[in-house]
Amino acid sequence: QESQIGVTGLAVMGANLARNIARHGVPVAVHNRTAARTTEFMEHYGGEGDFTAGETVETFVAALERPRRIIVMVKAGAPVDGVIEELTPLLDEGDILIDAGNSHFADTKRRTQACAEHGLRFMGIGVSGGEEGALLGPSIMPGGAREAYAEVEAVLTSIAAQVDGTPCCTYVGPDGAGHYVKMVHNGIEYADIQLIAEAYDLLRHVAGLEVADIAGIFDDWNTGDLESFLIEITAKVLAQRDESTGGPLLDAIVDQAEQKGTGRWTSQDALELGVPLTAITEAVFARTLSSLREEREVASQRLAGPVPGAAKGSTDGLVDDIQKALYASKVVAYAQGFQQMTAASQAHGWDLDLGAMATIWRGGCIIRARFLNRIRDAYVEDPQLENLLLVEYFRDAVADAQDAWRRVVSRATEEGVAIPAFSSSLAYYDGYRRERGPANLIQGLRDFFGAHTYRRVDREGAFHTRWAQDGKEVRTDT
Ligand code: NDP
Repeated sequence: QESQIGVTGLAVMGANLARNIARHGVPVAVHNRTAARTTEFMEHYGGEGDFTAGETVETFVAALERPRRIIVMVKAGAPVDGVIEELTPLLDEGDILIDAGNSHFADTKRRTQACAEHGLRFMGIGVSGGEEGALLGPSIMPGGAREAYAEVEAVLTSIAAQVDGTPCCTYVGPDGAGHYVKMVHNGIEYADIQLIAEAYDLLRHVAGLEVADIAGIFDDWNTGDLESFLIEITAKVLAQRDESTGGPLLDAIVDQAEQKGTGRWTSQDALELGVPLTAITEAVFARTLSSLREEREVASQRLAGPVPGAAKGSTDGLVDDIQKALYASKVVAYAQGFQQMTAASQAHGWDLDLGAMATIWRGGCIIRARFLNRIRDAYVEDPQLENLLLVEYFRDAVADAQDAWRRVVSRATEEGVAIPAFSSSLAYYDGYRRERGPANLIQGLRDFFGAHTYRRVDREGAFHTRWAQDGKEVRTDT
């Protein structure tokens, strides 16, 4: 019997996806560059379903029914191009190549075109949920031609996570749209994680709580508006004891955050699009700053500033304040991420359905959270929504949280605790709700030193003042 679908790349993600597909009764052909890994896969999991092992690319391709459907799950970057190059001569017109790794959306656009020249249909699909999600039900963000999606829809929706009977998989848009949405998902994940880290820092070093108590607080938060996978596992990470010291494992972990690049891509693209993506970008920078461990050691001896917690100020209501500040900052981070997707959708002509994106993020993926239901509802009600902060539910939630948010940001500043995501989110909020900001001065300065011109509030046109000469204003666009 021919296999209905093939998976090449049997590291943890590919292997688990293949197993997930097979568990749904679909015959799967498997392949890996290093054949030993394929053999190992068959030894361990061959009995779980209808697998055919392709030792070589040729036998792998030959095992597939037509049009062939091949999921490529290899290391992102050049390896994907290598695999496409190797497969292309063996495929026939109409075959579908599906890159399910974390590829950059621009690469996906390029590969879509290049494959089309060979009559191949290329899809770039985002898969979130880590190894467990890949096996038990990830969130899947498929991009590519709609008619190609139709041929893999049944498999993808069946293996995806399900929330209230709805699969966490829906068509995203053409070419790079799926990988783009996955990229923003990962960017939001960076912001979420940074906000959680800042909340922990405040609870520990300003509120002066023990790690075990903070674990309990996160458990408690996970029963309310903040309910989410990341809050849930934060409680678990905090509660973990170190086998060698008996203390919190956390205290034995080096405070240098690593990154694989999707957060950085999200910020880079926000800069290109001109979207104020402050929370995610601060989260990326915070990881970068954390990596300067040796410099920080030196600086900690030399630079003046308060020692967190040394002021022994009142901690009355502080835990509740931090919870509210975390929630309000999170709303801002998501509002910004969704604004970025809106801008990208327009720039690339993707016609993204943002309510549907919130829907498929409710399960399977790392940022799955209760409040995505609210985001979905907001975009269902108004698909043209400019900013989530303007929706009644979020507007009221932030209005309710803002006093606490301000107290937390000023307290942290006074006590010398860096909370870049909390404070930049508040700065964004205040900047966004300000009818008239100080950019008039920026324009004045630009016109002074560079004759860049400015617009006036009372008249149409572009103007320049001869600041250093006679001080006269001239209209420059007539
Ligand atoms: P890795 O990213 O570690 O990649 C290893 C796989 O890529 C192996 O099968 C390896 O084959 C293959 N490979 C590497 N270079 C080449 C090449 N030049 N030609 C052919 N095959 C090659 O595997 P993961 O399973 O962790 O991730 C796969 C993809 O999924 C990546 O894009 C990753 O970013 C993405 N992803 C990962 C998640 C995770 O939690 N790990 C979550 C979501 C997405 P060989 O055995 O021969 O070395």
